[in-house]
Amino acid sequence: MTNDANEVSKPMPPDRQADIAVIGAGVVGLAHAYEAARRGLSVILFERNTRALGASIRNFGMILPLGMAPGVVHERAMRSREVWLELAYQAGIWHERTGALVLAYHDDESAVLREFAGHAPALGYPCTWLDADAVARRSRAVKEEGLRGGLWSPAEVIIDPREAIAKLPFFLSRACDVTLCFGQAVTGVAWPYVEAGGETWRVERAVVCSGADFETLYPSTFAASGLTRCKLQMMRTVPQPASWRLGPMLATGLSLRHYPAFASCPSLPALERRIAQNHPALDRWGIHVLVAQNGLGELVLGDSHEYGLTPEPFDRPEIDALILAYLDTFLAAPSLDIAQRWHGVYVNHPTRAVFVAEPEPGVRIVNGLGGTGMTTSFGLAQDVFTDWEGARCLDTVS
Ligand SMILES: Cc1cc2nc3c(=O)[nH]c(=O)nc-3n(C[C@H](O)[C@H](O)[C@H](O)COP(=O)(O)OP(=O)(O)OC[C@H]3O[C@@H](n4cnc5c(N)ncnc54)[C@H](O)[C@@H]3O)c2cc1C
Repeated sequence: MTNDANEVSKPMPPDRQADIAVIGAGVVGLAHAYEAARRGLSVILFERNTRALGASIRNFGMILPLGMAPGVVHERAMRSREVWLELAYQAGIWHERTGALVLAYHDDESAVLREFAGHAPALGYPCTWLDADAVARRSRAVKEEGLRGGLWSPAEVIIDPREAIAKLPFFLSRACDVTLCFGQAVTGVAWPYVEAGGETWRVERAVVCSGADFETLYPSTFAASGLTRCKLQMMRTVPQPASWRLGPMLATGLSLRHYPAFASCPSLPALERRIAQNHPALDRWGIHVLVAQNGLGELVLGDSHEYGLTPEPFDRPEIDALILAYLDTFLAAPSLDIAQRWHGVYVNHPTRAVFVAEPEPGVRIVNGLGGTGMTTSFGLAQDVFTDWEGARCLDTVS
């Protein structure tokens, strides 16, 4: 695998025209480039760097419909999951249908999870409550002491974002005829013209998927959008010895206060109060602890949430220590030797699941997916184009 997308960039068409320009080759831009090509449009995909370096390569790689809000977003996530499975197969991207286990070690956690298991299947979540013995049979990575049980969801898929986000542009170029223009920042869009690398392109449409850089293009739309940034600290272990596998990705009661899927469970406020009282540092840094394993055998661990337009550039060792200490309460893995630490920044909107705007005719901005971009982008791209073609299925702001 080479990381230099310039090596596969096609020669520029002399007329510098395309049906659509997609700006940004994170998962949101890749999903829109794929969907546009699937609809028969000629696509040029611009990426500022020679390979995408943003949130899309820094995440867990969890395709996690379980956490998504019921209704539109969950349904979008399930459609995205289908596209991921199809693309992973076609593009040769490692993936594993691990499913997910959300563990309960406290009565309030099992109360929330049982409530959710009671109503969620009717809403399309294929999940079931398991008692402690059944959890232990599903995962040998779970500590059994104090375990009340857990919620099992078979829908979740894990990929390695570093591999997937690097390979997808090559696949789009090869199989879908997408023109890659990597290492070129788009410096201006004035529909129907796009400026990049000193050249001007004429396009019928443009989609701006610029992630955490939302000041450069259409700054006034962004300034009025309410979007903000969130910084998350992450870690990766060395590959687990003796080919040990984690099995299902794991979460705990901490995640129930993070994911909107659980927001309507009557027992949630009591759980939130207990965590605020007993673990104020976890609340302070927005920590909820997740673990997944990639194809190299490494465990990916995280995360924290610090909100603000200007994220702190330096990481906090105390956040990593809190994550590792909480992990030790439920995870029985052979090695927690940390090989890499990093942080990522995503963009989110305080009230919307996604921010889609039409700053001028022919242009859409798609941003603000928060912690759901890997899970929902491909379904979202379908919705953006359906909306664009007149079906008005999105709540678009201008
Ligand atoms: C630590 C962490 C863990 C997460 N875990 C998960 C998870 O497990 N599951 C999940 O569903 N989601 C997860 N998320 C959320 C997910 O990663 C994001 O929602 C998603 O990556 C956002 O994608 P994006 O394309 O908008 O942004 P990015 O990936 O940041 O991509 C934007 C791209 O646009 C390019 N760009 C910007 N401006 C220009 C310009 N002017 N010209 C050309 N190119 C430009 C940038 O270089 C960049 O490559 C996580 C996020 C983080 C940070």
